[in-house]
Amino acid sequence: MAALLTFDEALREVLARVQPVATERVSLTEAAGRVLAEDARAAVDLPPFPSSAMDGFAVRAADTPGTLPVVFRIAAGRPATQQLGPGEAMAIATGGVVPDGADAVIPIEYVVEHDNSVQIAEAVSVDLHVRPRGGDLAAGDVVVPAGTILRPAELGALAAAGVRDAVCAMRPRAAVVSTGTELRSPGESLEPGQIYEANGAMLAAALASAGAMVIPVASAADDEGAHRSALERGLRADLLVTSGGVSVGPHDLVRKIEAELGVEEVFWKVAVKPGKPLSFGVRDRTLVFGLPGNPVSSLVCFELFVRPAVLALQGAREPGPEFRPGALAVPVRRNPERDEFLRARVRVDEGRVVLEPLTGQESHMIARAAAADALVLAPRGEGELAAGTAASYLPLR
Ligand code: AMP
Ligand code: MG
Repeated sequence: MAALLTFDEALREVLARVQPVATERVSLTEAAGRVLAEDARAAVDLPPFPSSAMDGFAVRAADTPGTLPVVFRIAAGRPATQQLGPGEAMAIATGGVVPDGADAVIPIEYVVEHDNSVQIAEAVSVDLHVRPRGGDLAAGDVVVPAGTILRPAELGALAAAGVRDAVCAMRPRAAVVSTGTELRSPGESLEPGQIYEANGAMLAAALASAGAMVIPVASAADDEGAHRSALERGLRADLLVTSGGVSVGPHDLVRKIEAELGVEEVFWKVAVKPGKPLSFGVRDRTLVFGLPGNPVSSLVCFELFVRPAVLALQGAREPGPEFRPGALAVPVRRNPERDEFLRARVRVDEGRVVLEPLTGQESHMIARAAAADALVLAPRGEGELAAGTAASYLPLR
């Protein structure tokens, strides 16, 4: 039997088949969480004029120390109508335009003000508390490069630079199909042998968090007709994510029906734990993921393969998964054949990131997994990793 694909090999196969979705111009309010498709450039210098960093008095540094007449009061948004003459001071608010002639601002806390003059006890240096024009960015500079996920800070930077709208990837359309005759919706009553359907809600939320627009498709019982109609609908999306029905049992129909519907399978089974039965294929531009039914396996496969695919569909520069460094809190027995992804808590202990696997690592234990904030990679191999061993982890929150 041929060796299973490793995690890295399988991820490479997935990313190699991604064809980015189309782009559209959207307002900044609609752009949150989306991936920028073209470099966004500043419309103005930032700041657009020399501005005061403090509430205080604009002066010439050369006139300090001394007692200076206050000849004008500058509010934010209202520049001085005249320039500052030698031996003069102007009151200025934070964000006010530093007037021509002034080269420093003395904070209000450092002066004594009486009537219309200000007493400055110490000499101040040129440029003190003056934010120079263009100090953050010059007009025409790239504010945010293409391929960046627009988080709050990027949106703030774009707005500050006068960018009104941004060319972003469209949201990939993602269909979710859960399979299994035993599945019931929460709220329904359970007959013997039935369980509540967990993966649909979980995968829909995970897809949305990666920027996809989720198309709900009803779950499918384990018969060919139900599979065919659900999968046929799902295949119209940019991405079809199924759960269950990809193992070797007689009721595992997903791959068979997908093949009949024209899906070309790229791989089936990956050397990861949990998640080994994962299948991946394509039909035209549609990426087709068959996640295993156990909810924890679905969750892990989503983070390892589907989230990067969704981000790559949107043209993200770094689709991940983005592992971070930490150290094991306890010894971990390795799996000889498969890279294992342990659900764990992350804590910081005297500046070190410590990874503590949770008890209950079986792939049906979604309630245990819900307490995790990380997936810790225990690379396949023999023996045990000692406590304190360096380990990579994937944040879950
Ligand atoms: P399967 O991959 O279809 O053999 O499913 C593996 C295990 O996961 C079985 O115990 C299923 O009952 C369970 N399972 C499959 N799909 C779901 C789901 N959507 N929600 C909760 N459990 C599921
Ligand atoms: Mg099943």
